[in-house]
Amino acid sequence: MRAIRGEILHFLDDPADRGVEALEHFPDGLLIVRDGHVAEAGPAEAILAKLPAGTPIEERRDKLILPGFIDTHIHFAQADIIASHGEQLLEWLGKYTYPAESRFADAGHARSVAEFFCGELLRNGTTTAMAFPTVHAASVDALFAAAAERRMRLITGKVLMDRNCPDFLRDTAARGYAESHALIEKWHGRDRLLYAVTPRFAATSTPEQMALAGRLFAEHSGVYLQSHVAENRREVAWVAELYPEARSYLDVYDRFGHLGPRSVFAHCVWLDDADRARMAAAGAAMSFCPTSNLFLGSGLFDLDRAHAAGVRVGIGSDVGAGTSFSMLQTLNEAYKVLQLNGQSLSAERAFYLATLGGARSLYLENSIGSFAPGREADFVVLDAAATPLLARRTAACHTLAERLFVLMMLGDDRAVAETWVMGEPAWRRP
Ligand SMILES: [Zn+2]
Repeated sequence: MRAIRGEILHFLDDPADRGVEALEHFPDGLLIVRDGHVAEAGPAEAILAKLPAGTPIEERRDKLILPGFIDTHIHFAQADIIASHGEQLLEWLGKYTYPAESRFADAGHARSVAEFFCGELLRNGTTTAMAFPTVHAASVDALFAAAAERRMRLITGKVLMDRNCPDFLRDTAARGYAESHALIEKWHGRDRLLYAVTPRFAATSTPEQMALAGRLFAEHSGVYLQSHVAENRREVAWVAELYPEARSYLDVYDRFGHLGPRSVFAHCVWLDDADRARMAAAGAAMSFCPTSNLFLGSGLFDLDRAHAAGVRVGIGSDVGAGTSFSMLQTLNEAYKVLQLNGQSLSAERAFYLATLGGARSLYLENSIGSFAPGREADFVVLDAAATPLLARRTAACHTLAERLFVLMMLGDDRAVAETWVMGEPAWRRP
């Protein structure tokens, strides 16, 4: 058993629907962890009175404890091309992404990047990620192995790409299906690991491969499907040329059976209300990737319309087109994207999206994303005095909402004092 004392915050629901009722905040709180799971979270005084005498208490009283961050869209193979200059989506893929991904044919390279990648997630307080590897089965093995070693929750799966890409990254519909099937058997459901059928996007798969991806998704209960949709206007026009029979870009995926609970689509910038309604009805989720959408000049995600339609939404860093592993910095840019849309993202809602909102978009809210009893005890210990500016600005705050907003605008990896996974310390700031 472990007992951690500090300021505790977590969400029971979406603050956009339930306001302050949606969150639980214990200024002097105690988190009790038993066998890697949350036993209880509440006011320290009340819980301390019930604890057996002599129970050791981990004191974090000057820190803020939140459920571990959930990154619903990130590319592990792009860690080395983050901050590459000058292109929009389609040129970015050809100039930077594909050459970087070709290196993952080498299993040793894949292992070394996977180690770095998982370390970087933990250093930023991210304990669950849904990630793209490359077309190489070895890249999937490397990432699952690195996450398993750290006991992280990780969702990934071999990228499927059988057209409109360089030969060195091209598989075939049949080989993509067979390799995915073998990887599902090998990894899905092992410890905290989950498999995602991963067609890169509609333009790089033939209709045959798209159909087989839909079949993999249907054949294996509990597996995920991840892809990209409606990120960039030229991409949208290209997909319309490739699939003239589809009503919209999203409809391409729908026709091949890709929409359903546990399917997650990154970006969702250039959708219409019919697409949003269809995603909501299907139970599919959107991953809002603000740093990437600004960096590649893709467009502005519309959170109000997604919410009005009732679609599940999580936050994604989309590294390497995204510019930071930090979910705090990702929330910073989410705020700015929504400002440009005339929408004001509250700090409470932002932190909801990075925790319980992400868990709901992945259908994992009964396992992660909050401190409700029985949840896996993944959490992040944040330091609002991590930099002189953060400390000074925080000292001038009067409310929790103000402090959270300052933390997401000024905070980054430096504000992550510790990250815990399954009730054990996984990273501690030196
Ligand atoms: Zn992406």
